Amino acid sequence: EEPSGTHTKRKVVAVVGGGLVGSLNACYFAQRGFNVEVFETREDIRQAKIVRGRSINLALSHRGRQALKHVGMEEKIVSQGIPMHARMIHSLSGKQSPIPYGKKGQYILSVDRANLNKELLTEAEKYPNAKLNFDHKLQDWSPETGLMTFARSDGSTEHIEADLIVGCDGAFSAIRKQFLRRSRFNYSQTYIPHGYMELTMPPIDGEFAMKPNYLHIWPRNTFMMIALPNLDKTFTCTLFMPFEEFEKITSGDEVMEFFQKYFPDTIPLIGPDALRRDYFRLPAQAMVSVKCSPYHIGDKCVLMGDAAHAVVPFYGQGMNAGFEDCIVFDEILNQFDEDLSECFHKRTKKTPRMSWRYESSIDADLGGSLQMRAHVNSKWFLFRKHVDNILHLLMPKTIIPLYTMVTFTRTRYHKAVERWHWQDKVKHKCFLSLSLSLSVLQIWTAQS
Ligand code: FAD
Repeated sequence: EEPSGTHTKRKVVAVVGGGLVGSLNACYFAQRGFNVEVFETREDIRQAKIVRGRSINLALSHRGRQALKHVGMEEKIVSQGIPMHARMIHSLSGKQSPIPYGKKGQYILSVDRANLNKELLTEAEKYPNAKLNFDHKLQDWSPETGLMTFARSDGSTEHIEADLIVGCDGAFSAIRKQFLRRSRFNYSQTYIPHGYMELTMPPIDGEFAMKPNYLHIWPRNTFMMIALPNLDKTFTCTLFMPFEEFEKITSGDEVMEFFQKYFPDTIPLIGPDALRRDYFRLPAQAMVSVKCSPYHIGDKCVLMGDAAHAVVPFYGQGMNAGFEDCIVFDEILNQFDEDLSECFHKRTKKTPRMSWRYESSIDADLGGSLQMRAHVNSKWFLFRKHVDNILHLLMPKTIIPLYTMVTFTRTRYHKAVERWHWQDKVKHKCFLSLSLSLSVLQIWTAQS
């Protein structure tokens, strides 16, 4: 079948970064008939023995699924994921309380990061007009000519030119460095005080140690632990905690004391020996959020995924938002018939709605509310979620939990946050009128 598009068939698109967003983007551009070259620092992860990444598994939701669907990958990836229909809240006493994510049938999926990346690379490679170049680390590039310089592991360098450069090289993007040199480019990078550490909960007698179709959460005020299921029947537990708390624990006995105090139900499941050992295997990892604008330089380069908007992981949206970037850009290309210069020009001048800054509020607004999630205990968490769910049930069109809008719709993030603030006002007004009416009723019955 002839690829669509008229203006740019033979144009070369360089996708820098072959991680999750880069490899999916390669499929998008190849599907449109561009000549796609992917450049990735790492060796081919499909051949590597150990794959280093940001987290072992991830929660895939609606936005990400829609983006995969567009290149025919949704079914395959969903079939390799584990549905999580509800959160399972673990209280300190070990009590488990499920809270559904949304309506019946709504669920998110636990997917293996390395496997997803491998599948997407293999898919990209199926297009005859897409080529994957591993062991190519971008050093610098020119916004004037599109000439890029790559370092190879043998010490050599390569110079390659492209018509369009798509920066998908993650939160510490090398592509973004050129943006920083330009006037009127806004940029901020913030490390949250929390770090994260991953621990494995092995199967028991060949079966999952806990109920598998849940995202398990242990909310403990300033820190929390979560656990997502894997296909090999293990759980990956992620402990989020301020760095200073991580640093206080310096011996195996202190690890045990800490878990005994806050997560006693997990000790027999992770195993005391494994806990003592694994806590010290890797230091806690930092979490950064990145905001910047604009996301493009002329018609030469665009940033997508974490390179444009890295977020803290508490809402499970980083990858989903990055995948959605691919759809949004594809929609813009459709609108302007793939004419890149027209596309960029008209987009900024005539269609602010389609501005490539569409995601910028994901962090500003969501980020703040997400961090709060770590500051709740199980009782408060349960109470709030139940109230939200009941109100949603009573008034499905008026009160929609923020989580539902973010996770199960493609409502633009800033719109979801705006609506959430509006709903909060409505809820407060309702509670106020209700308590006023009750007081009046009380006075009236007392008098009569
Ligand atoms: P990356 O995954 O960082 O990939 C960037 C790629 O670029 C890498 O392959 C890298 O090797 C390559 N690269 C870097 N520099 C260069 C260079 N100079 N030249 C060439 N190549 C280069 N998101 C969710 O949606 N759901 C979740 O549940 C979730 N959980 C998370 C849990 C944790 C603990 C963390 C830290 C993040 C989580 N995220 C989650 C966020 C998600 O991991 C990121 O949003 C996602 O990985 C972004 O993909 P990316 O391709 O933009 O960047």
